[in-house]
Amino acid sequence: MRQSALFSKTERNAPKDEATVNAQLLARAGFVSKLMAGVYSYLPLGLRVLRNIETVVREEMNAVGGQEILMPQIHPKANWARTGGWDRIDVLFKLKSRTGKEYALGQSEEEIVTPLVMKYATTYKDLPNAVYQIHWKFRDELRSKSGLLRGIEFLMKDMYSFHENQEDFERYYEEVKQAYFRIFTRLGLVAKATEASGGAFTEKISYEFMVLTDAGEDDILYCDACEFCVNREVAKEKAGERCARCGKGMLAGAKASEVGNVFDLGQKFVKDFDLTFTDREGKKQYPAMGCYGIGISRLMGVIVEKFHDERGIVWPEAVAPFRVHLIALGGATEDGDHAYADLQNAGIEVLYDDRDLSAGEKFAEADLIGIPWRMVVSPRLEGKAELTRRDEKEEKIMARADAIAEIAAAGIGTAAGGGMGIVPDRAGS
Ligand code: ATP
Ligand code: MG
Repeated sequence: MRQSALFSKTERNAPKDEATVNAQLLARAGFVSKLMAGVYSYLPLGLRVLRNIETVVREEMNAVGGQEILMPQIHPKANWARTGGWDRIDVLFKLKSRTGKEYALGQSEEEIVTPLVMKYATTYKDLPNAVYQIHWKFRDELRSKSGLLRGIEFLMKDMYSFHENQEDFERYYEEVKQAYFRIFTRLGLVAKATEASGGAFTEKISYEFMVLTDAGEDDILYCDACEFCVNREVAKEKAGERCARCGKGMLAGAKASEVGNVFDLGQKFVKDFDLTFTDREGKKQYPAMGCYGIGISRLMGVIVEKFHDERGIVWPEAVAPFRVHLIALGGATEDGDHAYADLQNAGIEVLYDDRDLSAGEKFAEADLIGIPWRMVVSPRLEGKAELTRRDEKEEKIMARADAIAEIAAAGIGTAAGGGMGIVPDRAGS
């Protein structure tokens, strides 16, 4: 895309009402625009990042047999009253129609997905199954001061699985847990998994996936050698102790942000709705159920918290809005236009700074926006290109075709992993 046509512009100064790095940099660089606390518009650059995160999550959920659906965001009160959520869940937004009818806005969708899936899962032959969606959620959060980390409206991936018995659920749960680690690794993040109580739903164990960052709202103790971590307020462990899980690492305290979680929901929701399936003996049974969340928009904020320097954002390749920022200097528009066409023909996503601005202005903006590769053409370079990575200092001058080949060769690994999938018998299909 030509930068002259991009409708967002960068800003020199951070907005005064934003305290966190992610909100400041994303607003300054023109990725998002704040409507009110906890609610943002995603601009062309920001939406590209969000879509890239979605793609990684979608590939890994498909690889474990999840089937993507899209459920409504406005729900009848009856579903929420049935599970007790209408009165129990403090973040639930409630609406009243002029007809007097009442509705809830989706903050999570067990109340909708349970009757939906059980309409089709009538016998053991229909189980197990897993459905997921990537959709906006609404929560009446009291504090929305961390930019994309805590929205009132935010993008979540929520998956739900249904099983004949607890044993099958536990098999699948472990697979999704591994898929989650693959997702965070592909996004360039290192996640730790806490064991926490399932909160409002159940006394069962659940996992919360934490990424260490000072902008996070959770206080954790983590092992520096393995994936172990615990929430500090409940922990019997102390900082400075050896990790009991791996026996190698040491425990240290840190701030972290929860980027995902997996819950064992037991039979809470299927019992609330009284939905059963016919088992192998012909008897009515309640299935076991799990839910698996990932904060897609929160991840975008966490990535900025982890990957930035004093000049701006440093996007990991897998989520960057474009792979290369092509910059034409000193009126080198002919060279620029050729390089732009060549990059596009090579299938490389490119933001082309074709504007009439000084080198200093263009470089400062490119650093702020944070695209992984920078390719400069200018009269001084006499038809060659200067290639730099956003996360390195070294500048290399080479033929334009070689620069393009180098960017292409550094392609992003995208292969999704796969376990046995939701139905073990159909592994690999
Ligand atoms: P938190 O403890 O941070 O409030 P939660 O336990 O309420 O999170 P879930 O209801 O399990 O979170 O939602 C699944 C995922 O959605 C979370 O792991 C997190 O990544 C993300 N998430 C939750 N609330 C928000 C929010 N207000 N803004 C952005 N992302 C959120
Ligand atoms: Mg919450």
